[in-house]
Amino acid sequence: MSDPQSLTQLFALDSLLEPEEIQIRDTVRKFSNERIRPHVAQWFEDGKLPARDLAKELGALGVLGMHLEGYGCAGMSATAYGLACLELEAVDSGIRSLVSVQGSLAMFSIHRWGNEEQKQEWLPRLASGEAIGCFGLTEPDFGSNPAGMRTNAKRDGDDWILNGTKMWITNGSIADVAVVWAQTDDGIRGFVVPTDTPGFSAPEIHSKMSLRASVTSELVLDGVRLPASAMLPVAKGLRGPLSALNEARFGIVFGAIGAARDCLETAIDYAQSRAVFDKPLAAYQLTQAKIADMAVEVGKGHLLAYHLGRLKDRGELRPEQVSVGKLNNVREAIAVARECRTILGANGITLEYPVMRHANNLESVLTYEGTSEVHQLTIGKALTGEAAFR
Ligand SMILES: Cc1cc2nc3c(=O)[nH]c(=O)nc-3n(C[C@H](O)[C@H](O)[C@H](O)COP(=O)(O)OP(=O)(O)OC[C@H]3O[C@@H](n4cnc5c(N)ncnc54)[C@H](O)[C@@H]3O)c2cc1C
Repeated sequence: MSDPQSLTQLFALDSLLEPEEIQIRDTVRKFSNERIRPHVAQWFEDGKLPARDLAKELGALGVLGMHLEGYGCAGMSATAYGLACLELEAVDSGIRSLVSVQGSLAMFSIHRWGNEEQKQEWLPRLASGEAIGCFGLTEPDFGSNPAGMRTNAKRDGDDWILNGTKMWITNGSIADVAVVWAQTDDGIRGFVVPTDTPGFSAPEIHSKMSLRASVTSELVLDGVRLPASAMLPVAKGLRGPLSALNEARFGIVFGAIGAARDCLETAIDYAQSRAVFDKPLAAYQLTQAKIADMAVEVGKGHLLAYHLGRLKDRGELRPEQVSVGKLNNVREAIAVARECRTILGANGITLEYPVMRHANNLESVLTYEGTSEVHQLTIGKALTGEAAFR
């Protein structure tokens, strides 16, 4: 018997990273393993996340809006941000969701499309985790097709009055600020909504079988009166929200493969120590075929994520390329999680091991930030020139 290699060694993954990136990855991995992993199964079981405390710790770690410049943000590379997402999601997709929604959706929208006053008011507090942000685009009747949204903002003198309902909003009921997208006479516009504004409420959605260590809520806007200055001045039409979604999807390309890696490592470890028919499960050819096939997919997923990271750092990454990464890495991560579950047998269905928790979480990851079908349509359009969305 020879010494087993890690997936990282098999694919020589570290040869593709700079020393600083490896250091950031290892710091986030240590935090995730020490601070989150011991508790996350219980949070998942209880359907409760100590989000306020966690946000402050994640802020101190520097991962909230970590790829943004200024305003208290860490200003790291896209690849470094991706590696942080990978390590957070290796522990639980819900924790990575908190970070993605805060940094890539809420903070990115204000950073990219906001005015100086909005940036000064919210970004430093969001970067430190003192404040929590959410992003309201999806509605009960409009998910994949946000252009149809019914939430509207109407002028009343200089003020805006917002009415409507948003659905499935991560961080919604714990947020201090919501970036809300609404129809106006001038098309879809974004609004920075302090959640203590009268008329705003965010009932939490319960009974989820997935992302239980993550807060998901409805947003109800019932005559929410905002000053003229609440509108994001630069974003017009769907370009605003879609640019933010593209940022969050990029994090998922890395994150999902982190969940897959954790499943695979758990399954290999289990197979080495579990004896069936008098020898380790890992010593059977059928098990090794499963492990080898999964390792190939998880390794390729890393390579794809790193490649997209480098493209993004060079300012060359296109939305359809993010679709390739999100479609492949989430789809393969779910397949890996399910296959790993078979290796763990009955133990695989419990929360004692992370595998089924990851598998269930990945069902949400497959759906949010563009479903796999929407990404197939995006890639199909890029390759054929034909839009087949409707
Ligand atoms: C846990 C969780 C957290 C979320 N967090 C947020 C958040 O923070 N902010 C936010 O705004 N949203 C959030 N979402 C919402 C998410 O983005 C939407 O669920 C997603 O866009 C899909 O919309 P839908 O659920 O309405 O499905 P639908 O759009 O109704 O789609 C149903 C099915 O139809 C398919 N479909 C759609 N269009 C086509 C087509 N043209 N051709 C073929 N098939 C098609 C879809 O792929 C899907 O399989 C979250 C969702 C979840 C589950």
